[in-house]
Amino acid sequence: MRKVILIILSFLSINSVLFGQNKLDIAPFDQCGFRIGTEERDVLYPGYKERIDAILKKAAEEGKLNRGDGDLYTINVVVHIVYKKEAENLDDSIILNQIKILNDDFRRTNADANNVRSIYDDIVTDANIEFKLDRIIRVSTTKIFKGNLRSLAGYDKIKKTISGGSDAIDPVHYLNIWVGNLQPPIPGSLLFGYAYPPADLPNWPDGNSAPSPGLEGVVIDYRAFGSNNPNQFPAPFNTLFKIKGRTPTHEVGHYLGLRHIWADKGNLLTGAPKCNGEDDGADDTPFCGNNSQLEGCDTTKNTCRRNQPGDLPDMFENYMDYSREECQNSFTKDQISIMRSVLENERVELIETSTAITNVKYVNELLVFPNPSNGQIIVKAKILPINIQVFDLLGKLVFENNKPLLVNKIDLNTAKGIYFVKTEFSNGIATEKIIVE
Ligand SMILES: [Zn+2]
Repeated sequence: MRKVILIILSFLSINSVLFGQNKLDIAPFDQCGFRIGTEERDVLYPGYKERIDAILKKAAEEGKLNRGDGDLYTINVVVHIVYKKEAENLDDSIILNQIKILNDDFRRTNADANNVRSIYDDIVTDANIEFKLDRIIRVSTTKIFKGNLRSLAGYDKIKKTISGGSDAIDPVHYLNIWVGNLQPPIPGSLLFGYAYPPADLPNWPDGNSAPSPGLEGVVIDYRAFGSNNPNQFPAPFNTLFKIKGRTPTHEVGHYLGLRHIWADKGNLLTGAPKCNGEDDGADDTPFCGNNSQLEGCDTTKNTCRRNQPGDLPDMFENYMDYSREECQNSFTKDQISIMRSVLENERVELIETSTAITNVKYVNELLVFPNPSNGQIIVKAKILPINIQVFDLLGKLVFENNKPLLVNKIDLNTAKGIYFVKTEFSNGIATEKIIVE
């Protein structure tokens, strides 16, 4: 961990490090918490890193049998906005913009997709994964979310109501994204976001998986969310790292099992590459020995030059680099294979739910009306439901009828706000969002 301390101290003396013409005039910093998180878990749960590596290796191998030309997978998303200042309470338009960016990046409909160098044309493609915003939860807090040099635990408080954050909504079936003000331990340093890779491995002893299910998901600093966000990181980062909503793309990549393309080798402080040792597990990402945080879109950068045919330069276009967001535009086929394999195995419930909801709503012609209402609603279905439940935004049950009829009059008698009517049928579950005003 000495390395991390050095990086941050160095960061404070910005002018003490000189870089070449192509490089930014700042010292490098660890903008994503993936590495710290994995090392922390490995201390708490010995063998964690080894098991994560094993799952990524297995995913890479299985994924090759099922490239990204299979079914479209849709992941339901819950966004938690945890704010202390009003500026941190991001507008709906920023959240919708970020969901669109995730969809564009994962479907390769991003406007800058064509910026990828032609040498990579054969290895980049559409992941065929989409994201659907299910709900936005807003929580006003008095707490701050501050990590330390060895642990993400201080930031993870954003994921618990009891510590001033917002409890996850069903993290097995939903991708929870928390957005808030992340405060690294040293003033002036930055953390854009972090995510944990899947940890619920079947070969783990019961109760020993890490992190706990309630911590699964993605955390993003409120200034790194959306491309239409008026909040910015302080100078010089606001101009050097122009935010285009690519931090969530990168962190969802980790959440679905991807590693950094340089496999966290190399010296973060000096930028010196390391060209032997670990790989990122995706065979087609060009081998590279460090990230491209400081170089911008430098087409000459090839940290691990191997004088042989087919040797490719460092792929700063890859979402799993630290390159500036304007340089990034692609996932590779093998990265996509890993993510799809994780969705078919370790995180399979994420895609099962969305299919069930879509089909049931169509087949059973569920109607919930009026909407908005004064709290008196009617739930009408074409086949007999098994159970009807109503939840508030925090996931708290406010109404239940476990002997429903085809037509049900419900008087909610609750405060004004947004609620979710969950209707269970023998063939699945349908959820409708309603407003009480
Ligand atoms: Zn990362």
